[in-house]
Amino acid sequence: MKKKSRCVAVVLAGGRGKRMGTTLAKQYLPIPDKPVLYYTMKVFEDSEVIDEVILVVGKGHIPYCRREIVEKYKFRKVTAIVEGGKERYHSVWQALRILERENMQKGYVFIHDGTRPFISEEILERAFREVCKSGACVVGMPVKDTIKVADEKGCIDITPKRSLVWQIQTPQVFSSDLIIPAYREVITKEKELLARGIQITDDAMVVENVCGCPIRLVEGSYDNIKITTPEDLEIAELFVAERTRIKKVKKIQRSG
Ligand code: C5P
Repeated sequence: MKKKSRCVAVVLAGGRGKRMGTTLAKQYLPIPDKPVLYYTMKVFEDSEVIDEVILVVGKGHIPYCRREIVEKYKFRKVTAIVEGGKERYHSVWQALRILERENMQKGYVFIHDGTRPFISEEILERAFREVCKSGACVVGMPVKDTIKVADEKGCIDITPKRSLVWQIQTPQVFSSDLIIPAYREVITKEKELLARGIQITDDAMVVENVCGCPIRLVEGSYDNIKITTPEDLEIAELFVAERTRIKKVKKIQRSG
């Protein structure tokens, strides 16, 4: 694929993963023999779209991550490893601050959960094509189930029209001159947003709260799961086994 703009990926691995119930954070759990984060990083390393990767890790994890992920698997696109913050958006900001300091002018930032190892080059290319046109897009999939919005008492409040409901994934991709100032503003106004009951759980929300400019939805895949609970880890092992089997079959076909 032809590209001229600078594309930086921010890979988030700064969470503690309380819902997994393990002492080792979920991004380091093996599926079956390599850590979840290896699979995520490998896609960015091999991507024709991505030029650089900033890896955000948990407090005190920089030496471990450098040794066990970046050096061990020779991920040469990593330009910085930084410690994240309390919430996901604090972690994103730690990476964006680097780009702000170096005064990143023209380019795109791909913000991705390190715990989504089944991101693919096709999705990155789709998102890149879209962000070049619109400046802001998020990857997701139309929901398969009917979604209900509950009220405070746990009763059904609204049933949104299913054809309009998407389940949001990552990467979320933005032009650098949009996302860096938007994040700066949200971090500055953080107390005010929290007082209004707004909790920032993804990057699109940052843009929605600051400038309200349109954010396009781009199709991801139903495989692009976020590993959160032990069941997700079992599914991930099946996905890895299937991908390994397909690779073996292709190799046999090529040699035979
Ligand atoms: O907690 P959640 O599932 O939304 O986390 C999504 C991604 O953000 C994970 O890859 C996690 O490691 C990362 N994260 C982070 N810093 C935090 C919280 C989450 O980098 N404080």
